[in-house]
Parts: sequence; structure tokens; C-alpha cells
Amino acid sequence: MNPSVETRTSIVWDYSPAPESADHIRLKDRYGLFIDGDFKDPADGRYVPTINPATEEPIAEVADGGPDDVAAAVESARDAHPKWAALKGLERAKYLFRIARLIQERSRELAVVETLDGGKPLRESRDVDIPLAAAHFFHYAGWADKLHYGVNAREVRPLGVVGQIVPWNFPLLMAAWKLAPALACGNVAILKPAETTPLTALLLAEICQEAELPPGVVTILPGDGSTGASLVRAPGVDKVAFTGSTAVGRDIQAALAGTGAHLTLELGGKSANIVFEDAALDQAVEGIVNGIFFNQGHVCCAGSRLLIQESVRDEVISKLWARMGRLRVGDPMDKNTDVGAINSAEQLSRIETLVAAGEEEGATRQSIACELPEHGYWFAPTLFTDVSPAHRIAVEEIFGPVVSVLTFRTQAEAIEKANNSRYGLAAGIWTDKGSKAFEVAGALQAGVVWQNTYNHFDPTAAFGGYKESGFGREGGPAGLRPYLEVVR
Ligand code: NAP
Ligand code: MG
Repeated sequence: MNPSVETRTSIVWDYSPAPESADHIRLKDRYGLFIDGDFKDPADGRYVPTINPATEEPIAEVADGGPDDVAAAVESARDAHPKWAALKGLERAKYLFRIARLIQERSRELAVVETLDGGKPLRESRDVDIPLAAAHFFHYAGWADKLHYGVNAREVRPLGVVGQIVPWNFPLLMAAWKLAPALACGNVAILKPAETTPLTALLLAEICQEAELPPGVVTILPGDGSTGASLVRAPGVDKVAFTGSTAVGRDIQAALAGTGAHLTLELGGKSANIVFEDAALDQAVEGIVNGIFFNQGHVCCAGSRLLIQESVRDEVISKLWARMGRLRVGDPMDKNTDVGAINSAEQLSRIETLVAAGEEEGATRQSIACELPEHGYWFAPTLFTDVSPAHRIAVEEIFGPVVSVLTFRTQAEAIEKANNSRYGLAAGIWTDKGSKAFEVAGALQAGVVWQNTYNHFDPTAAFGGYKESGFGREGGPAGLRPYLEVVR
């Protein structure tokens, strides 16, 4: 059965607009580089605007860090490191607790700015990104005086200056994933946010000031890919932690080979979301929707390959299509919006290219009918059926609201198809049988496996990949290991 636009269930009544107000936020017109505890102009004076992808309007100007700024940042971080590392864990914890509480205090402002700068629905930045960012600081504050328990050693020491590069899909949350464990372990950090979403990291810099964090312990170095490239190559950087594309991850690994610098990589994915015939199908459909349309599908662990057991294929697809028809796409600031704006024109064109490839290669495309705003970058939630495992849309990361459906007959075939990917970041299993879930989870090459849920994050749980999805773990005690050296 191939449901078409005509068979969509329509919404019988519509929501009234419920826009969040941006009146309470106090952004500056211009943000410099946060080096040595203060905002500074970049050495070459270059500022670039960051725009709102839902309107294409500029929000603020942000400094673009160059090689001289990277050198200044490393110098300040090196100076700050010995004192920070020598502090008792309990003292470092106090700063992390303070940062966590200040994130909570400014959560409304941070949520609005995250949504304006990146295009994600306010409901997500308010209910997911910002609370989880605070939770990560709370969690690692708790570890700061127990590090050796976390890694099963008698004595540990920090690595030194860490360079951290984060992408644009969860700007503040990824900054928290990076900074909180690094600081708890006694390292000092230089963080480069993504070019399209630097603002919440800069507000976090203000929070570090408010928390009276010693200068140089956290540096925020906005810029583009070249800023990131100079940061990872800068002499004096002892460890690099990167989240982003596999291509850039590979470039960084090549640059660091033989230098002695430590490295962790959290890269892309093409995660399988597997629905067995014995699953609670309505619940599974909610999980499929959350797995691929959460944050417009700009999620490294998105359930972008939907594997459905053949016997329930038609039923699941028709329920999914009906559910997709109820997704509200549009103004990210509206509290009822489910799918917001695509993060940038560049990302939109990547999605369009891959979707066109899907159609050319013979898969069947269905995109929901919805009115898209006139300005900004948008992509209607899309479902591909008749997908073969060799199609580009089944192999490559689309990083957009596009799900590709494959089918399987047996459990063994489900495992084989799920593992048939160069990536291995996450997977979902939908079944009523606990034993089946455990058996399948054990056979999947994926860093995270969710059972009867998807995209569920918690600071106590480790997150990271297999194969080309990278190496190293973030979250929980496992997330301490990449920031420590075991002495004995
Ligand atoms: P990306 O180029 O890998 O960007 C990630 C971060 O690395 C950004 O801060 C970026 O800066 C920086 N960067 C870019 N080139 C660099 C270099 N040569 N050396 C050091 N740092 C560098 O990712 P993207 O272009 O934004 O997205 C491309 C694809 O990556 C997406 O379609 C998606 O498949 C994947 N992706 C995965 C994740 C994930 O969570 N695993 C996140 C984002 C993207 P600028 O922002 O200034 O370029
Ligand atoms: Mg922006």
C-alpha cells in the first residue's frame, strides 16, 4: 500500500499561534572572542553576522577568530592550567555547580537565543537542550572530587589544554558535553562553536564570568572551519575533542597523527530504527517520528534508516504517514511547532541534493503538504519507500527531516541490515519481547541502543560511536576517561 497525500488524515481544528516573546532577551550588537576572561576584538578586526535561519535576518555580529587569536587563546589557557589543575576537585566542583545553576537561571533567555540562532523549535530548546546542558554541568560537578573512582584508578591527572569543536545542531548542549567533563577533570578548554550558531556559547562565556571562573579556564573562540583547523593544529593543545562530520574528523585525525595530542571524535551516523511485528505499533510510530523529525533531523544519531518487519510494513507506514500529516512545520518560536527551520542555506542544499538522488535512483518519495514560510530555510518532512540498501539515501547521512524505509523478514536479517553501514552511532529496537531486545542489542554495532524509545539523552549515560561514527565516549563516568591520564 502506498498512501498518498489524499489519504492523509487532516487536522480537524487548528492551533492558534503561540509565539514565545523575544522581548526579555538582551543580546549585544557585537560579540568578541572570549579570551582570558574577557571579550576581545579579533586580531584582524573581522566580525561576521549570525543570522536567524527562520527569517534570514541578522541577529548579531560575531568575531571571526584567526590564527593570531588561536595563539593568544592557547597562551592564556596554558597560563591558567597549573592553578586550575592544582585546585581540589571539590573546589572545581563549586564552579561547575555555579555554572549549572546560572544556566538554569537564564534558561528562558538561552532557549530563545538557541532557537533564534539555529532554527530549532522553541519547545525543544526549552525542554531538551537547555535543561540537559545544565544537567551535564551538575553531573560532572558531582564527579570532580571522585575522578579516580570514575576510571577505576588510584591516581589520575588532567591532560592540559583541550581544544573542542562543536557543530550547529545542539550548540549549547554540545558545549556542555565538552566543557563539563574537561573542567571537572582539571583541564582548561578552548571551545570553537559552529559558525552559524555561536550565540549561546557566547552567553555561556558571560555565565563563566558571572560564576567568577578564573580567566583562561574557558575560552570561547567563535569562527569558521579555518578557525577550527588552526585550533587543532596549534602547538600547546594537548587534546582535541571534535563533534561534526566524518570528513572533517578524518582531516583532524590526519593532522594530529604522530603529534602525541589526544583525540576523540563524535561523527556522523545512519542509525537503524528497527520495528518488529510484535511491537506496540502506535508507540513505535511516535518513536519513529521523534527519531527522525526531532530537531529537523539535524541529529547525528537520528533514526534515519527505518527497518520494518515485512508483516507489519503497510500498517506502520500508513500510521506513520497519518502521524506525519499532523506535524506542524514553521515558526520555531511558536510553542506548538514540531519541525522548525533548516539550520542554513548550505545544509538545505545538501538535503535537497540527497533527496533528488533518492528520486533519481528510483525510491518513492512522499513529502507532507504544508505551508512553508516565505523566508528562511525549510524542508517538509519526507518519507522514502521502495528504498534499496544501495541507494544513497540508505547509505549517506542526510541530516534532515527525511526517513528511508527498508524491510526485513527475520531477526537475523534485521541485524545484518542494521549493521550494513559504515557508521555505528545508535539504533532503536521496537518489540514487546525483552529477550529479543537484549539479543538484538548485543548484536548491533552501535554505541547507543534504545529499546522502545528513541533520542533519549541523559548525562549519566555514555554516548559515542563505532566504526566511522568515531571513538571516545561522552557522558557518565565513561566521559571522564578521554580527559584524564591514569598515573597508577
Ligand atoms: P563540520 O564541517 O564537520 O562542522 C563541525 C564543526 O567543525 C564546526 O564548528 C565547523 O566550523 C568545524 N570545522 C569545519 N571544518 C573544520 C576543519 N577543517 N578543522 C576543524 N574544524 C572544522 O559539519 P558541517 O559542515 O556543519 O555539517 C556537514 C555534515 O556533518 C552534516 O550534513 C552532517 O552529516 C554532519 N554533522 C554531524 C554532526 C554530529 O553531531 N555528528 C553535527 C553536525 C554535522 P564551521 O561551522 O564554522 O564550519
Ligand atoms: Mg545563526
